[in-house]
Amino acid sequence: MNKSQSSEQIIREKLAQSILSPFVHLFNIDESTKCLFNSLTLKKVYLTNKKYEKVLANLSRGESSKDIKELMKLNFLVPQGFDEEKVLEAVAASLLRKSPQTNLAYILVTDFCNFRCGYCFIENSLKAPNTVMSKDLADKVINVLVNEAKQVPEYRVTFYGGEPFSNSEIVFYIVEKLEAASKGKFLFSCVTNGSLITEDIALKLKQHNVTVGLSLDGWANIDKNRVFTDGKETFYSALKGLALLKEAGVNTGISCTITKQNYEHAEEIIEFIQKLGIRTIGFNLLTRLKEPSEFEVPDPKQLAHHLFAAYLKAKELHMFEDRIDNRRANYFFKEIFHIYDCPAFGQLLFFSPTGTVGPCHAFYPSGKYQIPIKDDLKVQEEPLFYKWLEMGTLKNKECMRCAAIGICGGGCAYDIYVKTGQLGIKEDYFCTFQNEILKLLISYNFLMETQKTKTAKTKS
Ligand code: SF4
Ligand code: SF4
Repeated sequence: MNKSQSSEQIIREKLAQSILSPFVHLFNIDESTKCLFNSLTLKKVYLTNKKYEKVLANLSRGESSKDIKELMKLNFLVPQGFDEEKVLEAVAASLLRKSPQTNLAYILVTDFCNFRCGYCFIENSLKAPNTVMSKDLADKVINVLVNEAKQVPEYRVTFYGGEPFSNSEIVFYIVEKLEAASKGKFLFSCVTNGSLITEDIALKLKQHNVTVGLSLDGWANIDKNRVFTDGKETFYSALKGLALLKEAGVNTGISCTITKQNYEHAEEIIEFIQKLGIRTIGFNLLTRLKEPSEFEVPDPKQLAHHLFAAYLKAKELHMFEDRIDNRRANYFFKEIFHIYDCPAFGQLLFFSPTGTVGPCHAFYPSGKYQIPIKDDLKVQEEPLFYKWLEMGTLKNKECMRCAAIGICGGGCAYDIYVKTGQLGIKEDYFCTFQNEILKLLISYNFLMETQKTKTAKTKS
């Protein structure tokens, strides 16, 4: 046997022992096309059925081909006996945070709200009378934040509630103190229902460059879940607040909660928001209820399809859409592994009006996962925040074989807790939604690539 014969023999043997990586998932695009998708690297290879069959046949015979070389180069082929657990552990070790490092705070300046949205996970869970954050407590919060912010270039502070503008004095007290303590370091946002915004508040928001996320679930006849405490509709009061914000030039986006009542209108909601002159929208998934049947979209696949249509509409209108575009498509197209979808895994500090601090504001009414706020709190010395680092898809063996692991980020820990009573496990509704979004992205990408090839051919 000469030299070239022996190297051919080695390649042949190597190929004959190769298999498709367990991280490679197969998707049928249409009757004649398949996609091989690597869930860790987010690389995709589209093959006709015929080519795919040929790849399998070549592999079994140990014969190389152009497609096999391409798959080899992309690490889609691995040796038999490939240890996927070891690979996942190595990825986890390189990507996961080793210690908490916050750069985002949610401050609940009050737990009072003048709305009673049927699906609200704060107002509908409170057991004690409402509490308002005092100046003394705000001073403690400020001390903690000034210390935490020393370790990062930028720190975002978001005012939350309840309705934060029912305690607007404390909102601006904290803003002014933090600005004075560290000019330019803090960025401010506020999540509001808009109904208590006055001309004066709007001007102050503009003056301090506070970004506003105004909650609105669509137009008047579908925004029905949000009512005042006396049951009256809230839509026009929110619109009035929006008008004042726009008049003052405040950077405003819409926070839209998706429910059974409005999900079929998601695409139209994008158009509606655009007509209101707003260019940013975040869809909140309503998955934080113990008894969700009244509000939750029954079929997570349908939910995925409607939100995907909304994402495409937002793209067409050059708007910023957070849920699908920023938090899924962005990772899929840039081929970046989405590690954490939830900031509570080491990035977020929430402060309650009763004097507690923790990684997730949604647990506030239950009192779980919170410790008392103290002036000299150091997040990196508190075991509570380390506990939350143990969550996420890369730590979860159940996620290892999931095609959507690279775009998922683990979702909302609170949501999973409410539904299952546990933290850090997978939950079927959410997983079905994520996997459907992945399928849509893979098909959409195929359409785009085919279109590009056609255009290139026409030009040449
Ligand atoms: S949480 Fe569900 S969707 Fe996400 S990676 Fe795990 S199994 Fe997949
Ligand atoms: S666990 Fe859920 S509610 Fe809590 S911070 Fe994360 S995404 Fe938000």
